[in-house]
Amino acid sequence: MTSYLSIFTYILFIIAIHMLSTPKVAYKGNLLAFIGMLTIIITNLISLPKHILIISSSIILLGAIISITISQKIKLQNLPQIIALLNGFGGLSASLIGLTEINLNPTNQTLITFLLTLSFITFSGSISAYLKLNNSNHFKSATKIKLINLILFTLLVLSYFYPNKTLPSFIAFISITSILFGFFFISPIGGADMPIIISILNSLSGWATVLVGFSINVPILVITGTIIGASGIILTYIMTKSMNRSFLKIFFLPPSDSKEKSNSSNKHFNQGNALDAAFLMENAKKIIIVPGYGMASSNAEHELVTLAEILKDKYHIIVKYAIHPVAGRMPGHMNVLLAEANANPDDIFELKDINQEFKTTDVVYIIGANDITNPLAKTKEDSTIYQMPILEVEQAKHLLFVKRSLSPGYANLDNPLFYDAKTLMLLGDAKEITSQIITHLEQNIPNP
Ligand code: NDP
Repeated sequence: MTSYLSIFTYILFIIAIHMLSTPKVAYKGNLLAFIGMLTIIITNLISLPKHILIISSSIILLGAIISITISQKIKLQNLPQIIALLNGFGGLSASLIGLTEINLNPTNQTLITFLLTLSFITFSGSISAYLKLNNSNHFKSATKIKLINLILFTLLVLSYFYPNKTLPSFIAFISITSILFGFFFISPIGGADMPIIISILNSLSGWATVLVGFSINVPILVITGTIIGASGIILTYIMTKSMNRSFLKIFFLPPSDSKEKSNSSNKHFNQGNALDAAFLMENAKKIIIVPGYGMASSNAEHELVTLAEILKDKYHIIVKYAIHPVAGRMPGHMNVLLAEANANPDDIFELKDINQEFKTTDVVYIIGANDITNPLAKTKEDSTIYQMPILEVEQAKHLLFVKRSLSPGYANLDNPLFYDAKTLMLLGDAKEITSQIITHLEQNIPNP
């Protein structure tokens, strides 16, 4: 019976992962994965002796209560940081299992040492990513850190030749070195390379789960871990290709350290307001919306979708969303938010499918986006976004940039488009400005 149930849950997980790749059925996929996980937890719990059953159930219940309470308080704009933390917890639990197993299972010493290395790296690397996503630039001198990394990496490799891997001092050494390596490995990486790091950490947490599965002989962990690990590798590959990045360069070459400071004070720019924006939109035939991190941070997705629907339904204007692969702060960030706000999926286009359309577009509404439109990515060799493909918004007739100031985005790079003659800067909170434009448009709806 248990083995039939196990096969049932393996199949559920595989179908669930498949469904997660399409926004329309992703919610149902998540539900299937939840049912699979619950089935496994219950079948494993009932096979335990009574006293362990009580302890285990209480711990699981406590964990569930804590996570439900926290997840209800989390604002949607903080999702990327939470994903990084969850990845880190995955790594931490795998490392705790490794620490208990190394003495219980001494025949598998090398496997468990590898598990400890990988899981501690995942843990501390994810914490480092969490801090970076919270805009903490915790280390400035990236070149020195890459040198420290090299030393830590060499120590880790050499330690695998040590014969007695169950010695407490060895376990302490490998754990501490892995934690330090994971933290320092991620900390110098920035700009357009950060999304790639997030997907690598995701993949690492999957492989750590696979090692746990092998070391305690639980096939479901091997299966789910492989799915997570392999999909993380595929995502990393897609990201590196679409961002024109070389995997080896990200890790082993010192990062570019742009000295450019945002010097916007003495440059001229055209400032507009919601009324100007509404006027340009009303008179357009085609509008492309470019959402970025600022849309997420101001929670403007519902207003944005309302605006798009009014323009389409009441003004009969073609409206499309252009999604850059690294817009926001996590892979798929904009797609998640637009799906949450019920945007029509047929209006959402990836960079490669829409970039050709900007030259036939009247207005581009760039809401809280900056780096993903910055033409300096093509020319500024010492910037962290150099060679990253951008949305070619400058080819359109009018650009409307919604942001609170002229300050730079994540890559800390001024954007020349702010000072372009065809740009109107709408300075303010993304949600407020979008609501004001909606108000103006609603007042002027043409008679059918
Ligand atoms: P950016 O960080 O380049 O720009 C976002 C802009 O939003 C800022 O310039 C900010 O300007 C503005 N903003 C912030 N809050 C608000 C608000 N409440 N209302 C209006 N505007 C606001 O974001 P992009 O999406 O253009 O680019 C993503 C960047 O993040 C890339 O460099 C990418 O490499 C990096 N990254 C992406 C990850 C991913 O997986 N997608 C992960 C980690 C990093 P102001 O302060 O003036 O308002």
